Amino acid sequence: SCSSVPELTEAQKLSNIKNVVAVMSGKGGVGKSSVTSMLAVSLMRQGYKVGILDADITGPSIPKIFGLKDKASAAEKGIMPVKSMSGIKIVSLNLMLENEDDPVIWRGPVISQLVKQFWTDVIWGELDYLLIDLPPGTGDVPISVLQSIPVDGLVIVTSPQQLANMVVRKAIKMATMYKATFYGLVENMAYIECPDCNKRIEIFGKPAGEKEAAANEIPYLGQLPIDPRLTALSDAGQVEEYQSALFDVIAQKVDACSKE
Ligand code: ADP
Repeated sequence: SCSSVPELTEAQKLSNIKNVVAVMSGKGGVGKSSVTSMLAVSLMRQGYKVGILDADITGPSIPKIFGLKDKASAAEKGIMPVKSMSGIKIVSLNLMLENEDDPVIWRGPVISQLVKQFWTDVIWGELDYLLIDLPPGTGDVPISVLQSIPVDGLVIVTSPQQLANMVVRKAIKMATMYKATFYGLVENMAYIECPDCNKRIEIFGKPAGEKEAAANEIPYLGQLPIDPRLTALSDAGQVEEYQSALFDVIAQKVDACSKE
């Protein structure tokens, strides 16, 4: 045939990944890594085998959110992921650096190559879901992931103050150019619930995620409140203790999308 199929690496022969879901955002700080983490936790609780590939090389937050202490280790046939408390397999450059505060001063092509290696050289083993935490925006890494990793679906994370921002639309358009399948849009930080009266305060203005999803013709997965407990548990490296029915519903929708 005309198209060349790359030969499987030793690590890939030892792996079987059923679904790859990339999590994307327009700008940073909207909660992309938090949503990736909680999606992983919810899918795990539903009984799936889950991994997270942290592709946010220059701003990695996954290891901290899960409170990982161990370093990724090299085996004969590839890199072994680090397991979280509940058994989520995680690979991040920060799990390979001597000192997690060291900055990564590499150019785009080197970083993109590294992300590809997280796909080709990691012994992921048996996984129902591999979630990829992309860096924000439409730079080298998201493009390289869409080109070189067989992504089954994309989850877009936005927040109300960024919807007016058009950056998320750029990200959606880029993914569309690569013929990505959209599992849908999550609107994070949509409101805060008053602990005394349970009234919703929409501090960034009216949530518009549902409208934005419709305008871009992608599914709407739902909205999430600002929850100080999530911030606190993430900061403490204990995101796996967090319980939220809203995240579970979003994970169920993603799961349903992946089976269509
Ligand atoms: P991104 O990956 O988009 O840069 P993060 O997931 O790192 O964003 O989130 C940025 C900060 O906001 C973190 O401190 C995180 O704990 C916090 N955060 C994200 N989503 C929520 C939420 N729904 N409620 C409370 N805090 C949140």
